[in-house]
Amino acid sequence: MIRPKTEEEIELLRINGELVSKTLAEVGKLVAPGVTTAKLCEVAETFIRDHGAIPSFKGFDGFPAALCMSVNDVVVHGFPSDRPLEEGDILSVDCGTLYKGYNGDSAYTFPVGEVDAETRKLLDVTKASLYKGIEAAVAGNRTGDIGYAVQSYAESFGFSVVRELEGHGVGRKMHEDPGVPNYGRRGHGARLVDGMTICIEPMICAGGRGVYIAKNGWAVHTADHKKAAHYELTVVVRKGRAEQLSTFDYIEKDGSIKF
Ligand code: MG
Ligand code: MG
Repeated sequence: MIRPKTEEEIELLRINGELVSKTLAEVGKLVAPGVTTAKLCEVAETFIRDHGAIPSFKGFDGFPAALCMSVNDVVVHGFPSDRPLEEGDILSVDCGTLYKGYNGDSAYTFPVGEVDAETRKLLDVTKASLYKGIEAAVAGNRTGDIGYAVQSYAESFGFSVVRELEGHGVGRKMHEDPGVPNYGRRGHGARLVDGMTICIEPMICAGGRGVYIAKNGWAVHTADHKKAAHYELTVVVRKGRAEQLSTFDYIEKDGSIKF
């Protein structure tokens, strides 16, 4: 049984959504060739704690860091490292917060310096597929409608959709029901109800959709080592149109990153 959230709970989720959005923007300001993901993670953790929140990923199932830092062929769940980013890399940053007992969860893939045209297209299409998913996240639809929207859009550009990982409900727990796959059939899956809060998070590959988990037990790599992108927002299902609880506006309207 999936319980819609009360408006009080949604307000707390909104505060968390704002914080993860602003944290991603703080990270984005510093993404550049020569910077290490360990440094970016440190900045983000300080920012989260300065706002009275806890970085929810740290210690989650033993995850060692405040943020997931996934470079190039790492789809998600990468560890921060001391390897400097290089021109042409892409960096997927996934950020989670816990504030007043509720969770925030969003992700953004940043280009490092100039990226090639195919990579730019992967980023644009992945982000656009997320917005297609959000358009389908309305009361009366089902999770399969979201998955179908994401998948059909991404695949129309020749990209592929990771099947092993998916979006999810969010609330007191970081991962709640329902699962929100990025592929699916219209009219199938859990029914979406007004007030349900979910994270939609397409993971899209430039090449094939096969993935494997690294020896550290966490980092999910593409099997063909081609790049993958990951964008995530938290929304409330509403009648007619979902409402976003997190946003990329702080990243994209700041002006420090070119789009
Ligand atoms: Mg996330
Ligand atoms: Mg998530």
